[in-house]
Amino acid sequence: MSALPGTVYLVGAGPGDEGLITLRGAELLASADVILHDQLIGPRALEAARSDAELIDVGKIGGGKQVPQEVTNELIIEHALAGRSVVRLKGGDPFVFGRGGEEAIACLERGIAVEVVPGVTAGIAAAAYAGIPVTQRGVSSAVAFVTGHENPDKPETQIDWPALAAFPGTLVFYMGVRSLGRIAEALISGGRPGEQPAAVIERGTFPAQREVVGTLETIAQIAEEAEIKAPAITVIGDVAALGEEIGWRDRAQPLAGKTIAVTRARAQASALAARLSALGAEVVEAPAIKIEPLNPELPDLARYDLLCLTSPNGVEQLFAALGDARDLAGLTVAAIGPGTARALLTHGIKADVVPDRSIAEALVEALVDVPIERALIARAEEARDVLPDALRARGAEVDLLALYRTVAEPLDDAARAAALGADYATFTSASSARFFHEAAGTLDGPRLISIGPVTSEQLRELGYEPAVEASDHTPDGLVAALIADAATR
Ligand code: SAH
Repeated sequence: MSALPGTVYLVGAGPGDEGLITLRGAELLASADVILHDQLIGPRALEAARSDAELIDVGKIGGGKQVPQEVTNELIIEHALAGRSVVRLKGGDPFVFGRGGEEAIACLERGIAVEVVPGVTAGIAAAAYAGIPVTQRGVSSAVAFVTGHENPDKPETQIDWPALAAFPGTLVFYMGVRSLGRIAEALISGGRPGEQPAAVIERGTFPAQREVVGTLETIAQIAEEAEIKAPAITVIGDVAALGEEIGWRDRAQPLAGKTIAVTRARAQASALAARLSALGAEVVEAPAIKIEPLNPELPDLARYDLLCLTSPNGVEQLFAALGDARDLAGLTVAAIGPGTARALLTHGIKADVVPDRSIAEALVEALVDVPIERALIARAEEARDVLPDALRARGAEVDLLALYRTVAEPLDDAARAAALGADYATFTSASSARFFHEAAGTLDGPRLISIGPVTSEQLRELGYEPAVEASDHTPDGLVAALIADAATR
């Protein structure tokens, strides 16, 4: 036991989209010894935690009941008294229908220091992600946050429904989507116009956000027909109609609502995954391959006049093996495409030859006017022979240097099911297609997006026609092809 109790941080995680946590919240999350979280936080929110941090889900026991508040309080206090730094991570803001106030009091009563880190609350964020400003000059000058948990029909209700009906501004209801009918009735009988606009936003700011819009009179039925479920926010007031005009998500996030499996190696998946998430997609990481460095001894580079690199991985492995970058000084350096050229640039080498299309055939063409006597092709062990064959046919002497190999990465059942249940599966190489098929046993389910002809050919060999093939054979090109396909569906 440490002498000093640890601090308890009541941190708002934001409404779902992981980008909406505050800098202070993210900082504390990354350093906490213990994190007690509930269910409303985004699926990736905890990835920032220390790998040895203790994560405790106090949201639900099994599939059902909430952990009782007293138990949560006791857990927080116990860990703090043991000297640990405790983050109590809550969806949205900890003090907005979050029972953060009760937890703060419980800690302070035991002499434990508390820091509160506010979060972006769902009532504002879900509305904003549906294009609804909760206040708007000339439309609404006030906003009330209300719990929808109170049954307006019960005499003991703590809400003054007639006063709420008369409230001159926007009403934002948390919880209680199932009581929407009763809430609307209570407001209408309190004098609020039945034709006033109303919107319900389900899973706001998550990739799977859905929203419905109607009037106070119609909204309950519309939400029921759409099978809107918790968590959902209801916005009542003239601002609710502004979503149609301001709705920004379709344009900024053209992949919103789509689930996309990324099958490339974990080490490279993150850039593509981040790009897809930023476009609104829900990303399922299902790495079916991994890169195994072969750490070869480099030959004497001075003996060559051309060095070809055929992937960003190759570049990384080459530099891992290279003792001194000046060994590349006399060489013409060719990259298979812009991604490989970019990887070279990060090591301070500007490629001399870069075709627009990242494919061996295009590199062969781009090298037509380059005089070559001895070429070194540094690449994956299992690469195609198009390039060496073409250079040899021109009379060049060609050596191959295998820098790494791609090997299968086992896929667990959950990742397999999630990937096959996705709207799209992306393949950035023939090997990712082959290994993913091997691991998953099938490619049935998602629409298959291929980065280029070689990958497409591999998919066909496996018996599957890609839905789309990128015309620019780079991850960016693949993303562009995906957006174009999603727009048609
Ligand atoms: N402290 C949280 C609210 C917790 S109460 C906050 O500040 O946001 C739980 C209610 O919040 C849910 O029933 C729902 O009404 C709302 N809510 C939380 N996350 C939501 C989301 N992503 N989309 C819509 N409503 C959400």
